[in-house]
Amino acid sequence: MAEKPTQPSEIARETLRRLAMSKALPTPDNYRATYHEIAGSQIVEPFPERSLKALHAGLPRSSQEQVRFARQFETAIAAGNWDSFGAALNDLLTRQGAEPLAWSTLIRELVQQFDIHHAGLTAAKKKETVEHVLSASGSPELLFSRLQSAVRSWSHTPVGDHAGLVSGATPEALPAQTAPSRAAAARHEPASRGGMGDLQELIAQLLDNTLSIILSESPDLARESGEIAAAVRAARNVEELGGLGERLKKLSYRAHFVAEDQAELKSGLLHLVHLIVDNISELVVEDQWLAGQISVVRELVNEPLNLRRLDDVERRMKDVIVKQSSIKKNLNEARDRLKQMLATFVDRLADFSETTSGYHDKIEKCAERISQANDIADLSDVLDEVMRETRVVQLNAARSRDELGVMRTRVDEAEREITRLQNELAHASDLVRHDALTGALNRKGMDEALESEVGRLRRQGGSLSLALLDIDNFKKLNDSLGHAAGDAALVHLTEVTHQAIRPQDTLARYGGEEFVVLLPNTPLEDGVSAMVRVQRELTRRFFLNNNDKVLITFSCGVAEMSGEETPYDTLKRADAAMYLAKRAGKNRVVPAA
Ligand code: GH3
Ligand code: MG
Ligand code: MG
Repeated sequence: MAEKPTQPSEIARETLRRLAMSKALPTPDNYRATYHEIAGSQIVEPFPERSLKALHAGLPRSSQEQVRFARQFETAIAAGNWDSFGAALNDLLTRQGAEPLAWSTLIRELVQQFDIHHAGLTAAKKKETVEHVLSASGSPELLFSRLQSAVRSWSHTPVGDHAGLVSGATPEALPAQTAPSRAAAARHEPASRGGMGDLQELIAQLLDNTLSIILSESPDLARESGEIAAAVRAARNVEELGGLGERLKKLSYRAHFVAEDQAELKSGLLHLVHLIVDNISELVVEDQWLAGQISVVRELVNEPLNLRRLDDVERRMKDVIVKQSSIKKNLNEARDRLKQMLATFVDRLADFSETTSGYHDKIEKCAERISQANDIADLSDVLDEVMRETRVVQLNAARSRDELGVMRTRVDEAEREITRLQNELAHASDLVRHDALTGALNRKGMDEALESEVGRLRRQGGSLSLALLDIDNFKKLNDSLGHAAGDAALVHLTEVTHQAIRPQDTLARYGGEEFVVLLPNTPLEDGVSAMVRVQRELTRRFFLNNNDKVLITFSCGVAEMSGEETPYDTLKRADAAMYLAKRAGKNRVVPAA
């Protein structure tokens, strides 16, 4: 049997032979199929970029979702492979299949649970929890999940004495109003008293503080929101409150459109920022010192926007920009000095060549006089002149050589200085990975560290636990000791934590007074003990403020990453456990479920 052809030319010949023998038409498709069959290789379809671009141009863009999909589609074309298309389509289908956040169910449960008297949970405490969640949750999803876990934890708390009527009832089975509030409503008691009054105040605050911000660019609606808030506060009983329902419904309907417009505006702006960032990064290949900032902005706009991250990036950028602009000033000065030196150098060269060409003229004249000399005396005069001129030129040459030597040293120094400053610029750009105040990794640094830890975990196995800690009552510390002391406390916590964790663990500032510790090769229980150790160390090493000992404590949630989840899912579980730690009385470490 003939040997299998291996060279492309042999395969091509064999292909043509087989096509002729089989009498198949020599079309490109037949040729390609036969060629690959002989070569034993896979047919690689070329990526149909042009057709996909045409398809992209015709995609609908009338809703937020559609615009988003069109953008993902565009990115997938740019990536030039099918994997990114798969991801975009999956994302689209998952979104479409995803349940919308069930706000109405959640609010109904919230209202029900609010009115139940739970043992050890006063209405004020519940209100505090809701206010905290409202102010600390940056996205609707986070707000939803935090509110939901708060409501769930209330519902799991045993009911107190005078709520005996409803004890044992599941939240779903509860009537819209509990017995005591219905009785109060029937008696037309002032609504400002007890649970309903608190709830009224919360609804009014929602309208006053939250909705009016969303509506700040629609003054009519903002005014209406303020007026309804006042009416909610003034309502004396449930009927009066119920009478506001129609106005609230209308407001909510119109606010919905405003929110949609804002979302669209935001995504349009983000798209623009994307374009600018891409464009800039192509222009600044030379200026590597900008790379850090550009990559931070790119990552920021690649992910769903989050106020905390936006804030973090802005703060980091400001620090880096201040630092870089001062380095840049020095660098420009050093470059100017170098230019000036080169200009002097060129002047000297010109002087030098002028002197030497003058010398040549003179020597030529002397030569002429020598040829015309009639006696020795004439000749001796001419030789004297030659000697004099030569000495002048020699002196000039020596001086110029010395001067040029000095200048060369100075140019070398200036060049070294420029290189040093350029390195410093690049380093400053790197600073975007660290938090300026504490020196711990910032969000971007943490993302990178997480990526490499997860990579290692997938390659080598083992375990990875993530701890999320939030300083207790930090606002109070700031209020009583001042913001500078608050800052110093954050630095103290970072130092103590760094010393208490292992060298292979990583500390990152997650935002404000929240930190994340990455604990590689650490199962859950060990992660909890590690964080308890940090906690003990912090009680042992007081934070000193003007020689006063101040005890800093934190609440912490620890979660071990499981096989299927992303590190961000793990962080979410750690966050939920941290909230449980807060609710259970703070200053404790809680393992995540
Ligand atoms: P909790 O125990 O429930 O966590 O209460 P808290 O007071 O610690 O939490 P809250 O979220 O109400 O307040 C956090 C405070 O942290 C508010 C903010 O002013 C402060 N903070 C955030 N970042 C910094 C910072 O960089 N420096 C200082 N000094 N304070 C900060
Ligand atoms: Mg916090
Ligand atoms: Mg806190």
